Amino acid sequence: MTEANALMRLQELDLELLRCATSLAAMPQRKRLETIALARKKVASELTGIVGKRKDAELEIADTEAELQHYRDKTAEVRAAADAGGHTHRELRDFEQSLTSLAKRIEKCEFTLGPAREGLERLERAERNARLTEERLEREAEATKETLAEASQSLRSRIVKLTGERDAAASELSEAHLKTYEAARKRFKGLAVEQLNGNVPSVCRVKLQPSQFHDLAHGEEITECPYCHRMLVTSEEAGE
Ligand SMILES: [Zn+2]
Repeated sequence: MTEANALMRLQELDLELLRCATSLAAMPQRKRLETIALARKKVASELTGIVGKRKDAELEIADTEAELQHYRDKTAEVRAAADAGGHTHRELRDFEQSLTSLAKRIEKCEFTLGPAREGLERLERAERNARLTEERLEREAEATKETLAEASQSLRSRIVKLTGERDAAASELSEAHLKTYEAARKRFKGLAVEQLNGNVPSVCRVKLQPSQFHDLAHGEEITECPYCHRMLVTSEEAGE
């Protein structure tokens, strides 16, 4: 392989490596994983809110139930005292009043408990659903990671193979040309080398003047384009 051919080949390999890296970064699974991560964050924050409300609801119900039990115990006590007998008319009336007041409190507790328990059930349902969503998203993330790894694998092995070929091509260039190429590659974002087609460079496509063409054609095979300053291979691929 001539040095000019090695240079053209090197550029070809670098451009292909660039395409591989772009494909690797643009795998659709990556976008999907980002979306899943956002959804998981949202569900986690919703779940925190739901769990807080559910715990509050449980405490409220426990308090009301304790209160209810207290009034029931109290009612039993008052009844037992009243049933003991030997009370004055006034004492009996006081027992009666106590029982009426306790009955009202019991009724109020029971009235509160109904909707509170319904509210708790709703919160428990919401919590279950959020946890199911969390699990589903976790499974989806795992599956997406697997397909991403599989899909990346072939690209990665291609990159390894191309890198080997690239190093071989680079080793055929003189140190000076390799250095110029590396600098031009950065400057021109990959398209560092062009080749003459007749009297037209293949990348910038600015037609050379006859005198320029004559000078270039009789100079080095690897030179610099007078217009765009890319590296210019003056021999044509077909070989004129
Ligand atoms: Zn040019």
